[in-house]
Amino acid sequence: MKIRQYTVLFIAIVLLNGCTQKKEVNDTTKKEYTIFGMFNKMIFNENWPVFQEASKQTGVTLKSKISQNAVDEQEAFNLMVASGDLPDIIRNGFPQKLNTLGTDGGLIPLQDLIDEHAPNIKKFWEDRPDLKRVVTTYDGNIYQVPYYPPIKVGAVHILRKDWLDKLGLPVPKTMEEFYNTLVAFKTQDPNGNGLADEIPWFQRSSDLNNTLKLLLNLFQISYMWNITEDYGVVFELNRLEFKDAIRELSKWYKEGLIDPEIFTRDFATTRDYMFGNNLGGYTFDWASTAYYVDSLKDTIPGFNLLVFLPPAINDKKIVPFARNVYAGGWGISSTAKDPIGIIKYFDYWFSEEGRRLWNFGIEGDQYTMVDGEPIFTDKVLKAASPLNELYKVGAQWEMGIFQDYDYEKQISHPLIKEGYKLYIDEDVVQSSIGFAALQHAPEIIKEYSMIQVNLESYTAEMIQKWIMGASDIDKDWDSFIKRLDEIGLQRAIEINEDGFRRYIKS
Ligand code: CA
Repeated sequence: MKIRQYTVLFIAIVLLNGCTQKKEVNDTTKKEYTIFGMFNKMIFNENWPVFQEASKQTGVTLKSKISQNAVDEQEAFNLMVASGDLPDIIRNGFPQKLNTLGTDGGLIPLQDLIDEHAPNIKKFWEDRPDLKRVVTTYDGNIYQVPYYPPIKVGAVHILRKDWLDKLGLPVPKTMEEFYNTLVAFKTQDPNGNGLADEIPWFQRSSDLNNTLKLLLNLFQISYMWNITEDYGVVFELNRLEFKDAIRELSKWYKEGLIDPEIFTRDFATTRDYMFGNNLGGYTFDWASTAYYVDSLKDTIPGFNLLVFLPPAINDKKIVPFARNVYAGGWGISSTAKDPIGIIKYFDYWFSEEGRRLWNFGIEGDQYTMVDGEPIFTDKVLKAASPLNELYKVGAQWEMGIFQDYDYEKQISHPLIKEGYKLYIDEDVVQSSIGFAALQHAPEIIKEYSMIQVNLESYTAEMIQKWIMGASDIDKDWDSFIKRLDEIGLQRAIEINEDGFRRYIKS
């Protein structure tokens, strides 16, 4: 086994150095395909042990075809498409990009190939027709094998547990109780320094759009669309619930319950600042937040967090903010010479071994089998960042795959494990359908994008004004609704409803 591994490595190195030609590889079962792929700034690397192991099992070696200086995936993608020089396999983190390339003729339809040559993917889609539907385009073709995250739960509601305990407050269950919690954080000095310096609610956010999404999320409203199988297409920002939420947000902002700098905070530093200085009380954030419990235990004695369910509004408890159903994937270019070989390789990653290899890394190094289950070794579990430890060997490098929640569970903080269980058991995270899953002709996507951009910039400007008290939503309401219609809201609704109907039928 070792010898074969070295042989493959040797061949890979020889090919990499360009010292030999493809034809000199005598073994006819060995195949080599070129790939364009960059994920999280990581350019595909054929030397990653995970892909070398896959090579041993499938005979397929992938060779990266992307400038090693590339820093931006989409920029590099656009350059590659414009050059017309396509590799065999193309990965992208944005599903829409692959669909567009497919309908433009740059990728080949995969559904028939999968039916005939990819039993694992075929079986997976037979078990989960909903996950097949989200990748079917308006012309009925499937152009990508997607990367599917394992669960809907991503970010969760997080509170300072030690502050609650100190003030003798219960875990808030309703919106009224939650509001009272924030008021107590602001007025009862839970950090104990004699100053009303607490910032009851803070968020870290990469852009304005995201900030608005996070603020409205607490009030169980999506910014701007909510498209679900149960309710179809709903535009959220002309509803009375939205108006009520803005009134509340404006009041809370005025009362100092929301970070006064919420619209300008930096994504990279906010969470460190708020927790590290013992200032922030509540936030809605991802699993990594839990690690502050460990990192701050010496500097802020008693520092503790808890994950709680969304505060109920009229008995409703919903988190509209969910992970995408799928986030890109990979496809086969129209210039690829061996589509059957490639689809078989894609299929390997949906087999039990392929999926385990991708999720857990190399047996004996990143994981060992315990009672028939892969369990991470200390090398991963005790690493400063378990995920980075996995990236080093090529595991978790996103491409066409179904991610295993067990991988995430094993490397998660206990606080998050329990929190996620709560969210899953109570089924509070909404299953939204992203725009990319709706099926539209390319010219309609262009038309829609223009309306959407204008809706976004106008509503973002108004919401910010209302929350910060520069204007009043009740006074502006009629003109707001009128302006939305002028921008083309009705046409955007029509387009989304058309796309939704095709989606449901497919
Ligand atoms: Ca204080």
